[in-house]
Amino acid sequence: MARSDRSRNILVTGGAGFIGSHLVEKLVSQGAHITVVDDLSTGRRSNLDAIDPSDIDFIEGELSLVLPELQADRFSEIYHLAAAVGVRLVVDQPVRVIETNVLETLGLLRFASSANVPTVLASTSEVYGKSLQVPFSENDDLVLGPTTEPRWAYACSKAIDEFLGLAWYRDQGLPVVISRFFNTVGPRQIGVWGMVLPRFVEAAMAGEPLLVYGTGEQTRCFCDVRDVVEVLPRLLHQPDAIGNVLNVGRDIPISIMQLAHMVIEVLGSTSPIETISYEAAYGRQIEDMIQRRPDVSKIQSLFDFKPLIPLEQTIRDLASERGSSSDNGALS
Ligand code: UDP
Repeated sequence: MARSDRSRNILVTGGAGFIGSHLVEKLVSQGAHITVVDDLSTGRRSNLDAIDPSDIDFIEGELSLVLPELQADRFSEIYHLAAAVGVRLVVDQPVRVIETNVLETLGLLRFASSANVPTVLASTSEVYGKSLQVPFSENDDLVLGPTTEPRWAYACSKAIDEFLGLAWYRDQGLPVVISRFFNTVGPRQIGVWGMVLPRFVEAAMAGEPLLVYGTGEQTRCFCDVRDVVEVLPRLLHQPDAIGNVLNVGRDIPISIMQLAHMVIEVLGSTSPIETISYEAAYGRQIEDMIQRRPDVSKIQSLFDFKPLIPLEQTIRDLASERGSSSDNGALS
């Protein structure tokens, strides 16, 4: 098929997930037709309910089983967001995390390479590990803990994805961009796999305690998913981004204790805030990152990327979504 014939067909793996579904919506609004592959392990079909069915082909299944049924040359771009994510999942199901993140990415890159389809690979700020040098720049050393700590398997598996993507770029000339997502938040995010903001919002709305792990002095930088998907469709269209790693996020830090207070205040909740140990939270001791803040100079210089949605607005939107639906996952 000629390249022009496939200009509107885009493959999004993990397209029923939190970030994936927002990306699919964005791409559809730009006139694309999307093939979504998702095994619905952490994603939900209902995340795509707002999209006209004629704009997507939804395929439920494991990527490695679905890819042999697809023709790579039908696609003009690929966004590979299918991954095992969330600290709770990482701690509870380490084999699944490593297998999904490494083997499926390997298969996806072989598939993309067979028709030289430009590909965005989703990675994570988790790869920086416990580096104390903030902000985190793309070329900084990765500081990971020992292999006896399951948390580092996630960072390591995503780092291998990055090595694989960059190797395909260098060896085969496959256009690849690696997006290292920092803490991304917003509508459709659920707390079941450990993500802090939906957990706090759900607790605040239920009048239950907001459980802050550790001291609450650890800091994160949160960026609304609707800001993130403004930049993702542009990544493959900037030649200087190809073959590169980019931090994707916002660089305004907030401590987890401050975040808990913000949620209580924005939602007018009467819930208490309680600190609990990591051992009590995860059933075992885990190493947490004290600070996690992106150096955003690279993405800003290439794309003029400026997240606009304030965290307070994200909190309100998460709450109103939960107020209007019973299908939002539950705290575990
Ligand atoms: N956290 C918390 N309470 C929760 C869930 C998470 O205090 O109910 C903390 C967690 O220990 C971490 C921060 O919030 O320090 C962000 O956690 P999340 O899992 O959202 O992201 P990540 O650890 O990957 O940055």
